[in-house]
Amino acid sequence: EANSNGSDNKTLSVGTEATFAPFEFMKKGKVTGFDVDLLNAVAKEAGYEVKIKNTGWDTMMAGVQDESIDIGMAGITINKKRLKTYDFSHPYFESINMIVAPKDSPIENAKDLKDKRIGVQNGTTGQMASEALFGENNKNILKYETSAMAFMALENGDVEAVVTDYAVAKEYVEKNPDKNVKTIDDRTNFTPEYYGIMFHKDSKLKAKFDQALNKILDDGTYTEIYKKWFGT
Ligand code: GLN
Repeated sequence: EANSNGSDNKTLSVGTEATFAPFEFMKKGKVTGFDVDLLNAVAKEAGYEVKIKNTGWDTMMAGVQDESIDIGMAGITINKKRLKTYDFSHPYFESINMIVAPKDSPIENAKDLKDKRIGVQNGTTGQMASEALFGENNKNILKYETSAMAFMALENGDVEAVVTDYAVAKEYVEKNPDKNVKTIDDRTNFTPEYYGIMFHKDSKLKAKFDQALNKILDDGTYTEIYKKWFGT
């Protein structure tokens, strides 16, 4: 369908959960972050415009499934369970879960979280990784709507640790020196995972976005965006 510019650019609706800095967060009323820059570049290359809305995690997941939203972009890990319901682009970022705990916490690795109250964002791989270690219905795994809320629970002492994606954990610890928290890395009990752009099953967008993603990986655009958000 032609828009008012006479071009055939279509505007795609994108859902996100914008308390996930540095990937997506609100700044002056706008969703900003690594994912936003990356998606804008990929969409432009694919010939689309995107309108990114902070829908929250659950609404994003439901909306992409029922096709009321075209794309989910929220540091979303590609995994077997999600691949039953969604299609994903090629991976665009490697991540791994990480622990955030008070500086004086005795926790040294994920196994030490046993019998500790763990805060996770509901429905994320932080929850899945914690459940894989301590059981699905473990009452010590407390689920919050956003990772920001899980961090607040840590500040309040409602939980003793948070499990979330490493870049988000690191950003939170760096930006909040007053909170006296640290990150704890565990590459034995947590394993690498990969983010993808999420589409509904059999979406025609996947092939176009994969091609565009390859292009911006090749031509240096990805590196530029990466450097902007993560340094060299
Ligand atoms: N990467 C994690 C997941 O996909 C967390 C994503 C998020 O909280 N935005 O579950």
